[in-house]
Amino acid sequence: MDFALSDEERAIRDTVRSFVVKEILPLEDTVLRRERAHEPGLRLEELRELQQKARKFGFWGLATPEEYGGMGLPAVLQSLIWTELGRTIVPFRFGGEADNILFFANDAQKEEFLLPTIEGTRISCFAITEPGAGSDAANIKMSARQDGDDWILNGEKTFITNGNEADFAIVVAVTDRSLGARKGGATAFLVDRSMGWRSEFIQTMGEGGPASLIFEDVRVPSRNILGAVGQGFELGMQWIGKGRYTIPSHAIGIAERALEMALDHARTRETFGRAIGENQAIQWMIADSEVELEAARMLVLRAAWTVDSGRDPRHASSMAKLYGANMVNNVVDRVLQIHGGMGYTRELPIERWYRQVRLYRIFEGTDEMQRLIISRDLLRGYTMIGL
Ligand SMILES: Cc1cc2nc3c(=O)[nH]c(=O)nc-3n(C[C@H](O)[C@H](O)[C@H](O)COP(=O)(O)OP(=O)(O)OC[C@H]3O[C@@H](n4cnc5c(N)ncnc54)[C@H](O)[C@@H]3O)c2cc1C
Repeated sequence: MDFALSDEERAIRDTVRSFVVKEILPLEDTVLRRERAHEPGLRLEELRELQQKARKFGFWGLATPEEYGGMGLPAVLQSLIWTELGRTIVPFRFGGEADNILFFANDAQKEEFLLPTIEGTRISCFAITEPGAGSDAANIKMSARQDGDDWILNGEKTFITNGNEADFAIVVAVTDRSLGARKGGATAFLVDRSMGWRSEFIQTMGEGGPASLIFEDVRVPSRNILGAVGQGFELGMQWIGKGRYTIPSHAIGIAERALEMALDHARTRETFGRAIGENQAIQWMIADSEVELEAARMLVLRAAWTVDSGRDPRHASSMAKLYGANMVNNVVDRVLQIHGGMGYTRELPIERWYRQVRLYRIFEGTDEMQRLIISRDLLRGYTMIGL
């Protein structure tokens, strides 16, 4: 067994780290200042500029196959890169990406939706959640009624990331109520905003915010069906599956950086004539954070390795998502405590992380849904205990 990174993994990790240190970290103060003024921390044109700069270094389309101009990286490498991006609060991500399920598009749809999304000239969002169906996604009600060669969509989606910015939505709607979403009754549609849906911003605890998408008799031609009629739920679950190792990968980067800040503070902040790090109360918070961080790293890399090795990644990914999301909440909470009043201010990134990472326990499968998957796999004997 070898826990060391390969030379290639280390080289890529180090290149991304130096890009983050040189190009991204210097923007943190600006991002914090703008967010305090309720402005976007990073403007779209600034994000695009940074993405083009990264492209020159060869970083473009981490998950995008090489035939579409991407890097087509294995999941382990993608995970290592997401960890590096987690080390900054600047909402930067590499360009050249598209929703994983957009690759199911046919040739005409690829031209219209996939390629411009990869290039960054169009913005997508993915919408399955509804006011009455989140964890229980199979309970969606948005209807798609066939009318000649078109479908008429009615209903509401909610909490949709990028829903305000998107030019088009990948929307899962019910096409055959008698079957149920899980058994072929739901279909994914590619729906341009110009077809008539509208979005409403939802204010959240975090920066930016998702949106509700409202569909009232939105007419969508059959040629905009993604995949096959009845494949919508399956595609939706594939979309969600990707986040189950990228989210905790990001969480590891946040926890690394936050813990480093806590170490610095524990060494330099003095009370009662000595550094606070000399107190056992502080040392234990540091030790617990380090243990949880490393445990999460093992779970996340194992989940990514499971993807790369062609095994069913669901069980390992649920464990990584559940543990990684809780780990980062615990670590950031302790790091905030170690910083005392300064940790609570908006001068430092810590309170921002505190708000941001709370989401990690909710979206793309709540803690409870991950526990449900993990225990169900074991109880049904689908997964065995041990290696
Ligand atoms: C900022 C943000 C961005 C999002 N982005 C997207 C997006 O881009 N696209 C999209 O489609 N969705 C998106 N979502 C939706 C997200 O996936 C859902 O919020 C999530 O799945 C939970 O659904 P819910 O909010 O309806 O909670 P509910 O399903 O109502 O759950 C409420 C609580 O009950 C618990 N619970 C539910 N059922 C059970 C059970 N059987 N056993 C035990 N506990 C249970 C849940 O774990 C949770 O704690 C986003 C959400 C947020 C907040």
